[in-house]
Amino acid sequence: MGQRVAIVGAGVVGLACAAELQLRGHAVALIDPRPPGEYCSLGNAGCLSRASCVPLGLPGSWRKVPGWLLDPSGPLSIPPRYALRIAPWLWRLHRSTSLAAVRRIADALHPLLTTTIDAWRPLAQRAGVPELIRQDGYAFAYESATAFAGDALGRALREERGVRIDVLQGPAIREFDPALAPSLTHLVLLPEQGHCPNPLRLSRALASMLVAGGASLVARPATGFDVRGGRVARVLTDGDPIEADAVVVAAGAHSAPLAAALGDRVPLETERGYHVMLAAPSVVPRIPVMSGEGKYFATPMEEGLRVAGTVELAGLHAPPDPSRTDVLLAGAKRLLPGLVHGTVERWMGHRPSLPDSKPVIGHARAAVNAIHAFGHGHVGLTAAAPTARIVANLVEGRAPPIDIAPFAAARF
Ligand SMILES: Cc1cc2nc3c(=O)[nH]c(=O)nc-3n(C[C@H](O)[C@H](O)[C@H](O)COP(=O)(O)OP(=O)(O)OC[C@H]3O[C@@H](n4cnc5c(N)ncnc54)[C@H](O)[C@@H]3O)c2cc1C
Repeated sequence: MGQRVAIVGAGVVGLACAAELQLRGHAVALIDPRPPGEYCSLGNAGCLSRASCVPLGLPGSWRKVPGWLLDPSGPLSIPPRYALRIAPWLWRLHRSTSLAAVRRIADALHPLLTTTIDAWRPLAQRAGVPELIRQDGYAFAYESATAFAGDALGRALREERGVRIDVLQGPAIREFDPALAPSLTHLVLLPEQGHCPNPLRLSRALASMLVAGGASLVARPATGFDVRGGRVARVLTDGDPIEADAVVVAAGAHSAPLAAALGDRVPLETERGYHVMLAAPSVVPRIPVMSGEGKYFATPMEEGLRVAGTVELAGLHAPPDPSRTDVLLAGAKRLLPGLVHGTVERWMGHRPSLPDSKPVIGHARAAVNAIHAFGHGHVGLTAAAPTARIVANLVEGRAPPIDIAPFAAARF
């Protein structure tokens, strides 16, 4: 018998959960003051990263941090005013960087991420946009043998878990893709990876399908929960409360206070990321390509070339820093020297991130019918559909398809 499920947050994670639940016959309500898919999920690099089991912090990463912070074009920035605030989160991140911890994280993330394309396809098919789930592979590009060698552990972690990796060098790189800079020394191909060439169109298609299937979109913020006898009876909003048999917390970077209201304190931060969207590009890479040095992706999208990435630790409220997008623009021209383009659209979004690079997925401590599904950091598009399968099983009281113990809020 179908349940009434209230989902807080209509980003790609909430939408995927709603889609999976509706597919299984449940009645869903999506609660979000913003239109579906228009927050962090709007501007990502579009990669369906089956192989992204490698956490943000690796052994010795901290040694690179001062250099990154001093380099205005580096992949990490922390404004001085936020340095003290972020210090405890960085300390937790540092504590997850031993080789043993990194292997444990990779073991937890790999089963979640590797099913992304299989989990996305039926949802995209049902939403009428199967063309938005592609599996053409993607690549990491390096400008020096030193940078290539610096990522050896990441490659090893992937290969140990069965990820296929091909390495091209010298002229073979230009043969593979003549648009790429001749200065590249190594191109690491991951042919089993996927991408979505228009993440916002995917979100909107899911939302339209949900509404057509009877879902309600409640355009208000959730403000808390009415918990009675260890169950959420109603989601409180700034208007009428929403009655529900089960509740999913999928409010991205804003999930911490909602999780706290359900008994779980989590060190959720936002890793702010940026993109530039270049209209009418004269060249695009044949598959998404990430700069090994700059840690940004250049992804061919339906509406142009998107260059997305970088991490800025500055919280939820500071205005965007336009210099971060200048870095991406310069990076695009470095990767694709022949690039000429039309208008440039600049964007900043809030990745919801836990310091151990793992999301929070599982039952809330204070309410048996409340389920957390947030904190997917750099891989929220990838993990959304696999997370939805887990969440739907939990709503139905069935065992999740993979071990979710490593994602428990109680780990903090
Ligand atoms: C530059 C960049 C590049 C990226 N590239 C990739 C990539 O290539 N592949 C990949 O897999 N991931 C990528 N990501 C990460 C991915 O975009 C995120 O992990 C993902 O969008 C998070 O989705 P979400 O649904 O959890 O959060 P969001 O999309 O942020 O949605 C959360 C929603 O919750 C709502 N909300 C907040 N508070 C409340 C409340 N109180 N009540 C109701 N609603 C509320 C918000 O309005 C919002 O709509 C990238 C991110 C960035 C920034």
